[in-house]
Amino acid sequence: MAVLNADVIVIGGGAAGLFCAIEAGKRGRKVVVLEHAERIGKKIAISGGGRCNFTNLNTSADNFISDNPHFCKSALARYTPADFVSLVEKHGIPYHEKKLGQLFCDGSSGRIIEMLLTEASEAGVEIRCGSVVRGVEKAEHFEVETNSGSITSQSLVVATGGLSIPPLGATDFGYRLARQFGLTIREPWPALVPLTLSRETLRELAPLSGVSLDASVSCQGMQFHEAILIRHRGLSGPAILQISSYWLPGHSITINLLPDYDALKLLREQENKELTLANFLGQFLPRRFALAWCALNFPSQPLKRYAPGQMADIAQKLNYWEIVPAGTEGYRKAEVTAGGVSTVELSSKTMEVKSVPGLYFIGEVVDVTGQLGGYNFQWAWASGFAAGQAV
Ligand SMILES: Cc1cc2nc3c(=O)[nH]c(=O)nc-3n(C[C@H](O)[C@H](O)[C@H](O)COP(=O)(O)OP(=O)(O)OC[C@H]3O[C@@H](n4cnc5c(N)ncnc54)[C@H](O)[C@@H]3O)c2cc1C
Repeated sequence: MAVLNADVIVIGGGAAGLFCAIEAGKRGRKVVVLEHAERIGKKIAISGGGRCNFTNLNTSADNFISDNPHFCKSALARYTPADFVSLVEKHGIPYHEKKLGQLFCDGSSGRIIEMLLTEASEAGVEIRCGSVVRGVEKAEHFEVETNSGSITSQSLVVATGGLSIPPLGATDFGYRLARQFGLTIREPWPALVPLTLSRETLRELAPLSGVSLDASVSCQGMQFHEAILIRHRGLSGPAILQISSYWLPGHSITINLLPDYDALKLLREQENKELTLANFLGQFLPRRFALAWCALNFPSQPLKRYAPGQMADIAQKLNYWEIVPAGTEGYRKAEVTAGGVSTVELSSKTMEVKSVPGLYFIGEVVDVTGQLGGYNFQWAWASGFAAGQAV
């Protein structure tokens, strides 16, 4: 079959791969994107509940998990949320800030995909969907063997993402290729994922199922104050997804049901009252939750009837409710994959592999994982931009 020569081959037509291809194309490089799915950007399409939380105005290195917390700084500084916002504005895409700096499209995520396709076409990027990569070799150039022939290039960019949500096209290709070139991988794990509970805890929490409440959740020195959702399978909601990225199997998480208050102080202020515990808690928590929580832990009665020791126990459970999750819902439900190609292997300026000139890893396949809130896309754009300037 025919051999096509390109300057740059990008494997993976997701956020990072497309962005890198656009930037390289704008520099006059001949770029081919190889995407094995029938269309590009499937994760963009479903992201942010269909409205794509495309960046976060407050992005900083603190919003990322990586063995080297400094690695992401250079790329994030050279392509900022403001840069992406001006691109979105140039394409006339309406957007809004939902909360905490999170920017979403007013309409469908499809607008971001259209924007990327327009930019790619203007930059002369060739996108080949349905391309299966059978093998990669490097001699003087890279030679990529696909189901429609061989392609050679000076630079090869791996942007195949992580393991999350296999039906959307996720594969371990990036990790396999990294191993082929002798690179270190930080063992991946599912992140931003619902937590599962033991049968016994699930049975206990069954009456609370379906309740969503504002709480703060902590583990491993990290803390997130957002909504949690109690479900029949376990725990979810933004605060749980956030903490899941830091949770280690076997360890507990601590839920503070009254994050803005010292529960013991509050209870002591009411200790001589006829007010029942359930009615008292109902002032701060959803009523259904307050009733079920009392039934589960401390049968509700007028506050004046609890002994001081019981008050302390109640307060402890309100501010420090410890739960040991059984596990996570895994890559099937994880929004991202943490871990990946070790940053030790890469230049933080260009994403090029130090030991293999011309080979680049960008986006989620790298050991840089954002918290919830638009940070993962910002990393995809920024790392794609960094490589796009160098390939
Ligand atoms: C449900 C959901 C919602 C999300 N919402 C948000 C959000 O609102 N904001 C946010 O910042 N982040 C969000 N994320 C995370 C975000 O989508 C990813 O972090 C981001 O898409 C990573 O970009 P990427 O280009 O590195 O990888 P991907 O977008 O995963 O792209 C990788 C591409 O490579 C292709 N590929 C894989 N293997 C091969 C192969 N062997 N050959 C050829 N092609 C291959 C895949 O088909 C895919 O198109 C969400 C994720 C999910 C699952």
